[in-house]
Amino acid sequence: MGVCTSSTAQCLPRQSPIDIQTRRAKYDSSLKPLFIQYDPNTSKRIINVGHCFNVEFDDSSDRSVLSEGPLTSHYRLRQFHFHWGTSDRDGSEHVIDGQTYPAENKESPFEKFNLSNLLPKERTYWTYLGSLTTSPYSECVTWVLLQEAITISSEQLQHFRGLQNEDEEFILENHRPLQPIEKRLVKSSCKHKNHKP
Ligand SMILES: [Zn+2]
Repeated sequence: MGVCTSSTAQCLPRQSPIDIQTRRAKYDSSLKPLFIQYDPNTSKRIINVGHCFNVEFDDSSDRSVLSEGPLTSHYRLRQFHFHWGTSDRDGSEHVIDGQTYPAENKESPFEKFNLSNLLPKERTYWTYLGSLTTSPYSECVTWVLLQEAITISSEQLQHFRGLQNEDEEFILENHRPLQPIEKRLVKSSCKHKNHKP
């Protein structure tokens, strides 16, 4: 999940997605557990935006919010979408130790869509400073990547690939290529390497 936290100009490029090298991620004891509060009634509508579909939420009040973790403020859930690829083996934007995953969802959640079903039990995470992965690629995103992957069925992925853009072409893939990590540090909320691919 990506949270737009600032619009401060940076000298160094901080583009996303990146390959998270788990052995180089640094455990940071100051990283708090994530606080996720989710009210399924805040989901409003699903819209097809051409390259993917967005689930939009009513963010007029503090009903679905994300806070704690690496964040210094709390953020209301406004939009949620998925990235996928042409095969069941790729599609995630972020890559973990060189390994791609079939899809990636971003909290930036469907008809009474229940986000809770999309969150793993284990909430340890990696975090780093990056960007939006679609135009305008703004370098304002605090990325929070949950270490435990959730499962998605091949049927669901096939359903995503059946979606069409405005030119009535199927959206077979919509993930951005990897970007250089440069000198950025990826922090881990967990001391142990409990990442299970
Ligand atoms: Zn995205």
